[in-house]
Amino acid sequence: MKIDRIETTLYQVPLPTPIQAASTAVMHAFDLVMVRVADSDGATGCGYTVMHAGQGAGAAVLVEKNFTPLTLGEDPRCIERIWANLWRTHHYVGRGGLVSFALAALDTALWDLRGRTLGEPLWRLLGGYSPKVRAYAGNIDLNFPVPELLDGASRSLAAGFKSIKMRLGKPTLREDVARVEAMRSHLGADIELMSDANEAWRPDQAIRAFRALQPYDLVWIEEPLRPDDYAGYAHLRANGGIPIAAGENLHTLAEFNNLMTAGGVDFPEPDLTTCGGITVWMKIAHLAQAHGLPVTSHGAHEVHVHLLAAAPNASYLEVHGFGLEQYMAQRLTIDEGYAIAPDRPGHGIEFDFDALAVHQQ
Ligand SMILES: [Mg+2]
Repeated sequence: MKIDRIETTLYQVPLPTPIQAASTAVMHAFDLVMVRVADSDGATGCGYTVMHAGQGAGAAVLVEKNFTPLTLGEDPRCIERIWANLWRTHHYVGRGGLVSFALAALDTALWDLRGRTLGEPLWRLLGGYSPKVRAYAGNIDLNFPVPELLDGASRSLAAGFKSIKMRLGKPTLREDVARVEAMRSHLGADIELMSDANEAWRPDQAIRAFRALQPYDLVWIEEPLRPDDYAGYAHLRANGGIPIAAGENLHTLAEFNNLMTAGGVDFPEPDLTTCGGITVWMKIAHLAQAHGLPVTSHGAHEVHVHLLAAAPNASYLEVHGFGLEQYMAQRLTIDEGYAIAPDRPGHGIEFDFDALAVHQQ
């Protein structure tokens, strides 16, 4: 069995509603790098990575010009070997960054192909723990005025969620606190509320923010500081009084090891599309387990639901607001606060490539 064909396509997909985080301008679209693989028996798999608009071309070229010639002819069942070869040969310009994004798309396609070949859904193929994964709606954005924020939360509750995330990082702490207070009183005491600062604060500002937000029973505050300030995270975790989530901006297993070893995180949050794919995501989940920590996810919820369903230390699935589901044949099932990993082989996503074609770059 050999890898016969690798096709890479770059899309720029418009967002249904423009969204904003403290670390970005208002986003109107995102780049999608899609990789499709086929083996000599005719089996296929697809994987993808997601980047900010205008940033996907480099990852697409890496897969097409660098990874494809090194991967054609390899045995698709030996994913670790393929991954290690691409990592090693791109070590000098890689060890994270774009190389991790590009690897993610190809790695996911190989795992999907493996699952489809065996007739097994990824969640069972990767270990099989429980298809029911606690999920939260992560579509509550910094650019929304308070009434829109609360309306969005109400829509998420009506859709079956019991946990909601909102963004922090307004120009003043007073405004952030007022928004959290409005959300908490809108939700009542029984709905879980997460928050995400998207690197908005210096360490001194973060400590003040954590203390001001303590009355609102937050499950976590995500990315309060720039992502590689491991000592800052550890200090904040020891002194802030609110659990910390982080990881969407860490792109290697080693970076997660640094953060966990520093004692800087309560909810490690790897994103398979930014950390090198499913192969690395599962290692980060097991590393978290060894540290006595849960694992959560960021973005790409249709694939992450399988990975969390394979992890005994799964905590929450982020159901992200990028809206890729309108290009997929099936929607993720949300029931009474839980997402259900499907039993379809591989990741089980059937993309509508005709609908995507109008966004091809
Ligand atoms: Mg985040």
